[in-house]
Amino acid sequence: MKVRCPSCGYIADKLPPSLRCPKCDDFSHDWLIYDWESFASMKRRHIRYNLFIIGVTLINLLLAITLESTDAFQWLFTLLFIPAIISLFYCRKQLDGESEYEGHRGRALFFWLFGFGGV
Ligand SMILES: [Zn+2]
Repeated sequence: MKVRCPSCGYIADKLPPSLRCPKCDDFSHDWLIYDWESFASMKRRHIRYNLFIIGVTLINLLLAITLESTDAFQWLFTLLFIPAIISLFYCRKQLDGESEYEGHRGRALFFWLFGFGGV
């Protein structure tokens, strides 16, 4: 796995054990992961999750309208549509940005939904 120095952009084949960049001599806990393929495949997976959530929330919305639901949870669930569509567009944009890719942080691979409830 390649890594990228956050200070000077130096790309190393693996994380230096000292966490010190051999080029600019900066010490950093924040080395970026430099692996477009794994980043892109994770983003494609997030797009599938988002499409799934969008589909389920739309079906749920249709059901709620058809059944004239008074279930607050059912209506609240529909709100998941909003972060899903934002995340979908954001993932698409990131996938189009290979030429601007400069490495990513580990937390970029977490899916937003799993942030709810501290999972
Ligand atoms: Zn450096």
